[in-house]
Amino acid sequence: MTKLDENIQKLSGFLGRFKETGIRNRIAGEDQLGSGGVFQTVSPVDKSVICDVARGTEEDINKAAEAAADAFPAWRDMPATERRRILLNVADAIEVRAEEISLCECWDTGQTMRFMSKAALRGAENFRFFADQVVQARDGQHLKSPTLMNITSRVPIGPVGVITPWNTPFMLSTWKIAPALAAGCTVVHKPAEDSPLTARLLVEIAEEAGLPPGVLNTVNGYGHDAGKRLTEHPLIKAIAFVGESRTGSIITKQGADTLKRMHLELGGKNPVIVFDDADLDRALDAVIFMIYSINGERCTSSSRLLIQDTIREEFEAKLIARVNNIKVGHPLDPATEIGPLVSNEHYEKVCSYFDKATEDGATIAAGGEKIGDEGFFIRPTLFTNANNQMRIAREEIFGPVLTSIPFSTEEEALQIANDTPYGLTGYVWTNDLTRALRFTDKLEAGMIWVNSENVRHLPTPFGGVKASGIGRDGGDYSFEFYMEQKHIGFATGQHKIMRLGA
Ligand code: NAD
Repeated sequence: MTKLDENIQKLSGFLGRFKETGIRNRIAGEDQLGSGGVFQTVSPVDKSVICDVARGTEEDINKAAEAAADAFPAWRDMPATERRRILLNVADAIEVRAEEISLCECWDTGQTMRFMSKAALRGAENFRFFADQVVQARDGQHLKSPTLMNITSRVPIGPVGVITPWNTPFMLSTWKIAPALAAGCTVVHKPAEDSPLTARLLVEIAEEAGLPPGVLNTVNGYGHDAGKRLTEHPLIKAIAFVGESRTGSIITKQGADTLKRMHLELGGKNPVIVFDDADLDRALDAVIFMIYSINGERCTSSSRLLIQDTIREEFEAKLIARVNNIKVGHPLDPATEIGPLVSNEHYEKVCSYFDKATEDGATIAAGGEKIGDEGFFIRPTLFTNANNQMRIAREEIFGPVLTSIPFSTEEEALQIANDTPYGLTGYVWTNDLTRALRFTDKLEAGMIWVNSENVRHLPTPFGGVKASGIGRDGGDYSFEFYMEQKHIGFATGQHKIMRLGA
């Protein structure tokens, strides 16, 4: 039996229960049908229906928000060490079921086992990391004056809403939910409608690991319906959102009436800048990895290659050969490097850029085609002869599609890199240290790597500038969002109080 056959057999075992009962909402520790009926989730591998999914609406969000509010005082007041113990149990339980999570994730989203087996373990690590932060987080700062002791403390903000997209949904959900729970908040999670499987596994695993009922609630459904109500609900104190920039703007408006605190992790059109003094072999590996891994459905992917004109021809020739060699195939085959795109809608959107590229005058140097019609597969694509004004350089395509743009000077590279509405990540390849410092200082991005692909280190701040987001995650930055700072002043002596009406 090949590894692919073995994976398919295991997957069908894991999917049996979903096919039987569908995916229910999980509210206050109980399975509930959606008040809006059901919708279906479809596998992008062969367009087959995976199962029915409860369609949550306003009524279900109301119930979930009330459950989260009821569960909040006990969760908030639980000793930090106990909260830490439960979250570490969740991490262990994720690891035990990592294979089930990654197989389901691949089938639901088209992502490959090559990457998703690691992403499931990263989900466990997110819980473990934030569990450990619970007891270490900055909580009280003492600043004494002769007659007053000032204490700054932090308290969890309350029940929060977490709204996640379909790309690497398990990992991204844990990335938001783990710090929220660690901070002492309770959560209502609205997963993306295109990828509900692993959100269901997460709430189940967390409860089995000891998370009290109502601390994490999951309501499936559409954004304009369940998602909208979550952003408007008065009991929900903050929204942690990951998704498109346009949606970020809409939910900010929706949350305005209840003055919701918003954390927005949004889209990107990230540049990778390769200067001619760089280690070009390593740069080539990183350029390919950062756009063609995870199907290019990755907010931090470098979708604009800015290549110095002195090395353009040679670099692009090597790039074309490698891109044509990338293995597209069944996501459960360990040899596969790119799987199908997540949904028909997204597939058609990505493919629409093949025509847009040629209409705007660029060349399709590799790919630029659909593969068959069994699932949502495309060839990894490279556009050359492009400039930064073309739609392929300005709009987030969110697939395995790279646009190569030449530059001649450092100033020109910086101008092109910053000429975008987005500012999530940037990648700079040069062996000139002073240039790297100069360039990164001026590059408009929340996260920058020099001579490296994206290597995420959990304590560091994660987030974007401009249309790529508001707020930061990671380490103590996450607690800034999920907690309120509180000032308490204690008189320690008899300072003079002004007497009115005496
Ligand atoms: P999307 O904005 O369409 O949907 C994201 C989530 O928002 C879904 O759960 C959806 O149901 C919900 N939603 C939609 N309309 C809503 C509304 N009016 N009110 C409340 N909720 C609503 O995004 P997507 O297509 O699922 O995901 C891809 C996008 O996510 C890309 O733009 C990508 O760059 C971005 N992303 C950003 C990061 C980051 O860290 N910056 C990480 C991953 C993905």
